[in-house]
Amino acid sequence: MTTQRLYYTDPYLTEFTAQALEIGRSEGLTTAVLDRTCFYPTSGGQPHDTGAINGVPVREVIVRESDGAVLHMLDGEIALGPVTGRIDWARRFDHMQHHTGQHVLSAAFERLAEADTVGFHMSPDSVTIDLNRPTLDQATLEAAEDLANQVVFENRPVRAWFPADEERQALNLRKVPDVEGRFRVVAVEDFDLCACGGTHVAHTGEIGLIKIVRAERRGDILRVEFRCGGRALRDYRAKNALLQQLSAALTTGMADIPAVLVKLREENKALQRELRALRALALEREAEQLWQAGQSLGTFRLVQAAFDGRDAAEVRQLAQHLVAHPGTVALCAAAGDKAQLIAACAADVPLDMVTVLKRGLAAWGVERGGGQPTFAQGGGAAISLERAQAALRAAAEAVQQMMGQS
Ligand SMILES: [Zn+2]
Repeated sequence: MTTQRLYYTDPYLTEFTAQALEIGRSEGLTTAVLDRTCFYPTSGGQPHDTGAINGVPVREVIVRESDGAVLHMLDGEIALGPVTGRIDWARRFDHMQHHTGQHVLSAAFERLAEADTVGFHMSPDSVTIDLNRPTLDQATLEAAEDLANQVVFENRPVRAWFPADEERQALNLRKVPDVEGRFRVVAVEDFDLCACGGTHVAHTGEIGLIKIVRAERRGDILRVEFRCGGRALRDYRAKNALLQQLSAALTTGMADIPAVLVKLREENKALQRELRALRALALEREAEQLWQAGQSLGTFRLVQAAFDGRDAAEVRQLAQHLVAHPGTVALCAAAGDKAQLIAACAADVPLDMVTVLKRGLAAWGVERGGGQPTFAQGGGAAISLERAQAALRAAAEAVQQMMGQS
């Protein structure tokens, strides 16, 4: 069973009447074969049309491999006999703009760079062609884009037909069809001739702008992403809005944005360096003050400090500064989601900080922790400032007891 494809002769036809000849079920959808249709089935890089038949939404359209019939996949039931179909014109026209745009751009790459198109992909998010070479320089990409747009501005006629046998032999096609026998040809006047079953605009002016947005090497091929017509306009609009936002946020003209960003990044790096130096200085000062306020234990000195929500690495540095003083024991706690308890001492203090730490951690009911005789650390649980101070008291008691024994 073959379906008469109305879009072959009139891609602008959006409504049609037909006879439903066959109704079935597949993958939870109703399948329908009509004697004729406007619906384009997914093929040749172009996605299917959407729309409705007798008001029932058409989800997908494919070619049935066994007999070449166009299979409509519907969301609900329809009956055999006369039907009315309607396609979504906005989607179809977007496909027409991009498919004709693709032919023009592919022909431009062939003419200017002898780069043949070996792949074509169209989806709602992106439209790409694959060229049979790994790279092209920026000047060549722009030259192809210029030539393609010149063909658009010249508003050349685009014609599609099924050539007769004798005519077929004489055609100099850019793309030779992969099917034997009868095939359809699409011509952009005096510019491109290509075997194609897709839907095309009648004049190149309808394509609108053809804009390459990216060219990316994929192994031996170059994948060129481009936008045409309505999509190119929306893309331009979005990018213009983005540049305006950036321009306003940076209080500079669009052309100066890159230079301003480089300057900001450099300033930021310098500030980070300065900030690190100042923080280190502040930490030393803070450690000095904490040490002065420490408690004398004979010839030794005990310093305790608890902090809430402070970076554990910074608290660790503080403890290291404190025990740089001979004879000092430092007990520090960082309360918070992953609280840390630190017990540290100078090299000349004859106490085991792991034992001191364990006594402190016992107050939290935490067992994760350990280290060296002069530096031990543990914690990891969520601990309040009050409980952090309680752990410090327990650890301090341990220090005092061990001092009494030694
Ligand atoms: Zn095509």
